[in-house]
Amino acid sequence: MSDEKDPLEEISKNIQDLLKNAKFGIQVGGPNGPIQEIPKPKDPPPPSQTPVILDRIRHFNLKPKEIRDYLDRFVIEQSEAKKVLSVAICDHYNHIRHCIDNPQCAEKEYSKQNIVLLGPTGVGKTYLMRTAAKLIGVPFVKADATKFSETGYVGGDVEDLVRDLVKMAGNDPELAQYGIIYIDEIDKIASVSNPSGRDVSGRGVQINLLKLMEDTEVNLATPTDMMSQMQVIMDLSQGAKKKRSVNTRNILFIVSGAFDKLAEDIKKRINSSTIGFSSDPNSDEDSLSEYLKEVTTDDFIKYGFEPEFIGRLPVRVACSALTENDLAAILKSSEGSILSQYQEDFGGYSIDLKVSDEAIGEIAKRASKEKTGARGLMTVLEKLFREFKFELPSSAIKELAIDLTTVKDPKKKLQKIIEENRYLQRKVWGEDIDRFAHSFRATYKFELVFDEDAKEAIIDIAVRDDKTIHAVCERLFKNFQHGLSIIARNVGKKSFTISRKVIEAPEKSLSEWVVKSFQEKDTPSSTTDERTSYI
Ligand code: ADP
Repeated sequence: MSDEKDPLEEISKNIQDLLKNAKFGIQVGGPNGPIQEIPKPKDPPPPSQTPVILDRIRHFNLKPKEIRDYLDRFVIEQSEAKKVLSVAICDHYNHIRHCIDNPQCAEKEYSKQNIVLLGPTGVGKTYLMRTAAKLIGVPFVKADATKFSETGYVGGDVEDLVRDLVKMAGNDPELAQYGIIYIDEIDKIASVSNPSGRDVSGRGVQINLLKLMEDTEVNLATPTDMMSQMQVIMDLSQGAKKKRSVNTRNILFIVSGAFDKLAEDIKKRINSSTIGFSSDPNSDEDSLSEYLKEVTTDDFIKYGFEPEFIGRLPVRVACSALTENDLAAILKSSEGSILSQYQEDFGGYSIDLKVSDEAIGEIAKRASKEKTGARGLMTVLEKLFREFKFELPSSAIKELAIDLTTVKDPKKKLQKIIEENRYLQRKVWGEDIDRFAHSFRATYKFELVFDEDAKEAIIDIAVRDDKTIHAVCERLFKNFQHGLSIIARNVGKKSFTISRKVIEAPEKSLSEWVVKSFQEKDTPSSTTDERTSYI
C-alpha cells in the first residue's frame, strides 16, 4: 500500500469525526458517495440505561388499565384507542417477556399485535404511541410511508426504519428489537388511491413493509452508509463481536393515516345497506371520520391495500376528531401540553404566565377553526405569544396574564403592560448598564463609573434605536480600551467617571482625555484634583 498511514488508525479517526458530527445532525458525503443526512437522534436513552430497560421488558407486568391511566395523563379523549392500544401493548410485551430468554418460544407461530390507527390529523395518534413507548422505555421511531420507494434507491429503504430504531436505542441492537416503529400517511401508499391507475410503487412499498413486519433480519451496515461501514471495520479491528443485525420479529409496528377517502367509501357502504347509519346531509369532515370506526378488512382491500399487508395489521382503531371542548381540555389538563411548554419558556426568564379560562376558550375556538386538531393550538398560541416572547425577556415585566381581550388583540395588551412597567423598566435598564460596566472591568481592567445623567442618556439612545443596553454600550465604548490603556500608561489612572457629555460624544471625550494624560505626564506637578477630572 502506498499510503504510509496505518489504515485502521485513519478509519478510527474518521469514525470519531463522524460520530462527533453526527451529534449535530450534519450532512456528510464526498466526491465518491452520496450526501447523506445523519439524523440527530431524539433523546436516545443513554447506553448505561439499556440494561435497566431490558430488565424492565423481561419483567413486564403492566396491566391494560395501568397503561390507559398513564395515557390519560397526557392524551385527552380517544378512550377507545387508549383501550385497544393498552391491550395490544400488554399482549405484545407479555409475549416478549415470555420469549425473551426462551428460544423455543420464538419458533412458535405468533400473530403480532401490529396496529392501524385511523383518524384526522393532530388528534393524538402519534402522541398516544410515543407516550406508551416512553412508559415502557422502548425506542420509538416515526416516519412517513411516502418517503419510501419500492427499490429504496429514490426516497428511502423501509429497512432504514430499523436502523433508525437502533440509533434511538443508543446504538444497542438488542434493545432496538423490542422497539416501536410508527409509519404515518399509510393511506398514501394504497395502490389504487392514485386516480391514474394502479400505483406500482405503493404496492411495492407495502410488500417491503410486509416483510419487515414479519420476521426479517435487517443488516445494520448498508453499502451506502459510510458510518455504519466504518463501525463494522472498527468493531472488527478491536476484536469486538457486536451484533450487527436486528430481527424484526418482536418490533411492534403501528401504521396510521387520515384515510379521508376511505371514510367516504365506508359511509357509502353503510348508507347503501339497510341497517346502520342514516344519511346525514350536514355531515362535515369531523363526523365523516367517525365512519372509520366501522372499517372492515374488505374496505381496506378495496381501498388499495394488499390483503397480506392488511392481514398483518390485526388491531384497528379509529381516533375521533377533537372538539373545541377537547382542545380547551388539552390546554387545561394535559400534562406537558403546549401551554405548559409556553409556561416553562416564560419561566426561563422568571416571567409568570397565567391564562384565564375565557382566554383558553377563545384559543380553543380559534384552534378548532384551523381544522388541524391539536396542531391548531400550536398555530394560535404561536401567533398569540410571538411579540411577548420577543419583548418580555428584556423587560422588567415578571407577570403576563392572558385574558380574553389579550387573545383578541395581543399587540394592544403588550403596549399596555410595557407602558405600565415603564418606571420599573428604567431600573432594569440601569442594572443592564451596571452589568456592562462589570463585564468591561472584568475584560479590560478599567472601571467605568456611570453617573445618573449618563445612564439616562444611554437609555434614551436604546429606546430611540430599539437596541439593547448592551448593544448601545458596546457601540459607545468600542474604542475605549485602547485609549484608556494609553492614559493608564501615562498617569496610572484606572477608573473613569462617565457623564452625559461622554455618552453624547464618546470619541471626542476619549481623545481629550488622552491628550490631557500626555500633558499631565509632561507636567508631573499637576494636582490630584486635576488628575481626577477625566469626565
Ligand atoms: P396525529 O394524530 O396527526 O398523529 P399528533 O399525535 O402528532 O397527531 O398530535 C400533535 C400534537 O398535538 C401532540 O404532540 C400533542 O402535543 C397534541 N395532541 C394531539 N392530540 C392530543 C390529545 N388528544 N390530547 C393531548 N394532546 C394532543
